[in-house]
Amino acid sequence: SILRLCIFYRKKGRRMIQLTIYGWNDRLSQLKQESVYKAFPHGRVSIVHRTCYEVISENGLFQCELTGNMMYGKSDFELPCVGDWVVFQPFDENKGIIVDMLPRKQTLYRKRSGTVAEKQAIASYVDKAFIVQSLDENFNVRRAERFMVQILEEKINPVLILNKADLDFNRQKVEEQIKHLSHQMPVYFTSIRQPQTILPLRESISEGETVVFVGSSGVGKSSLVNMLCGKSVMKTSDISLSTGKGRHTSTRREMVLMDNSGILIDTPGVREFGLAIDNSDSLAEAMEISDYAKECRFKDCQHINEPGCAVLEAIDNGMLDPKVYESYLKLRRETWYFSTSEHEKRKKDKSFSKLVDEAKKRKAHF
Ligand code: GDP
Ligand code: ZN
Repeated sequence: SILRLCIFYRKKGRRMIQLTIYGWNDRLSQLKQESVYKAFPHGRVSIVHRTCYEVISENGLFQCELTGNMMYGKSDFELPCVGDWVVFQPFDENKGIIVDMLPRKQTLYRKRSGTVAEKQAIASYVDKAFIVQSLDENFNVRRAERFMVQILEEKINPVLILNKADLDFNRQKVEEQIKHLSHQMPVYFTSIRQPQTILPLRESISEGETVVFVGSSGVGKSSLVNMLCGKSVMKTSDISLSTGKGRHTSTRREMVLMDNSGILIDTPGVREFGLAIDNSDSLAEAMEISDYAKECRFKDCQHINEPGCAVLEAIDNGMLDPKVYESYLKLRRETWYFSTSEHEKRKKDKSFSKLVDEAKKRKAHF
């Protein structure tokens, strides 16, 4: 693969890596000029293991750690994740200290499980997100909705991949169930056993574009990544020849290059995906509830029991699937919980920094 080739060149000390194939562009270049550390090299985080960050730079892969400054006072979700562009100070042959991070764009977050409003960054500088489900008991419209809503919130383009299409499934029924989703995102039926189904997917990814894969483990994400790259690049998904079954499933995030085109990021199986969304307008839009809500008699209609509610009417008329409506209510409740606790946290943060400021001022007096 290109990646391996590049590492080879670095070891031989011959050639630089063109970071444009990893998505580097003029805009990022400008952003870097604003960093006080602009004299240092930059690179893209390709894997995160606990406190160690693998950074791919013009001079190859570097194993980096964060400076204390980068960590101090930061929430977990503000620390670098896969896909982030960072500035680092190299030392030794391939080690480095990350001293700065370029401002994030199009970052996929999820709510941390078991918390109220802790979010976690999954991948950043993402153009497209492939929501992968397999056409067996894993197929779940409600879960796909949930992913889609979060992805749209980040201005990332969602794509639904229904994999294992070689299995026995009722295509008509599936298409009926995802009708409202297919208005919002392209849908592909794929099978790694039918290479021709992968081709359109590959053609949908353009050069320098970053694609993140999300979905439960076992649905075929690594297999698809391998197929898209045209070779086996993921060490983690070892296919056993005798059983045809994947042996051990990835728990690491990994970034790989497609030949002459995109950057693929595999995430560990994300089965549960709590919404980390601050407002429910985008949710209504994503779920196509807003199409009807425009016609409600009251501007602040909650679509629960108000007279003249066009959403409830649409359900009565059979225009709106009651399951989609129920799912919308459930997701809305979730975003409310999340945003309320976010605001409370921010208020607390504000009053805390006020305290610190005042303490500083007082100190300055003496
Ligand atoms: P991941 O955990 O999402 O990365 O899933 P893997 O790529 O490791 O695949 C899980 C299992 O599903 C493996 O045994 C694969 O061989 C199998 N698999 C992947 N794609 C397909 C497919 O299109 N059809 C069938 N029948 N099996 C598949
Ligand atoms: Zn209404």
